Amino acid sequence: MSVDQPLILIVEDEPAQREVLGYNLRAEGMRVAQAADGEMALLLVAEEAPDVIVLDWMLPRLSGIEVCRQLRARPETRELPIIMLSARSEEVDRVRGLEIGADDYVIKPYSVAELIARVRSQLRRVRPASAGQVLTHDDIALDARRHLATRAGQELRLGPTEFRLLTTFLERPGRVWSRAQLLDRVWGQDVCHDSRTVDVHVGRLRKALTGHGGSDPVRTVRGVGYALG
Ligand code: CA
Repeated sequence: MSVDQPLILIVEDEPAQREVLGYNLRAEGMRVAQAADGEMALLLVAEEAPDVIVLDWMLPRLSGIEVCRQLRARPETRELPIIMLSARSEEVDRVRGLEIGADDYVIKPYSVAELIARVRSQLRRVRPASAGQVLTHDDIALDARRHLATRAGQELRLGPTEFRLLTTFLERPGRVWSRAQLLDRVWGQDVCHDSRTVDVHVGRLRKALTGHGGSDPVRTVRGVGYALG
């Protein structure tokens, strides 16, 4: 797990469609998780914290619309990008899909290339670093492709964890991250750490950021976690 490789959750009850899409997303350098029904989708979202979800409308157990509704009702997944898939082409369904909070809507049969482009477009919004953009905030800049972070033009010496932390902060300046969210995002779900680990690495990041002077840009939000700016 790393911030370099975005995780896409495919929720689709047709195994062949799931496989084809999964294969193509992996070929594009993404990680893929798959669910065959709505309940499994909700479970995997909670466990794996995907970056984008491709969600079929017609699903066993829990429909795509219901999954979408539940994800939007939870603070931790309110902003998770959802691309709805549907065999229905009626305008009313499209409107319903977007009203319920889907970010995009693709009608089956779709071209895989087109769907991947839509996934990338969502990723650019939520994971700009993995899309190759240089991230900036005030005098801080980070280029994930060159693995280079600077403040006021001076290169920052960061360990891999601090680099991922800074990437996460820069992707959403001002957003308050809980320690649990940072653990998921920066360390990955497979690793067990307690929240003090986060404090230690935020401390190191602060030290690196202020090493050449300048004020501390990382804000501690009491009882919640951390934010940049
Ligand atoms: Ca289906």
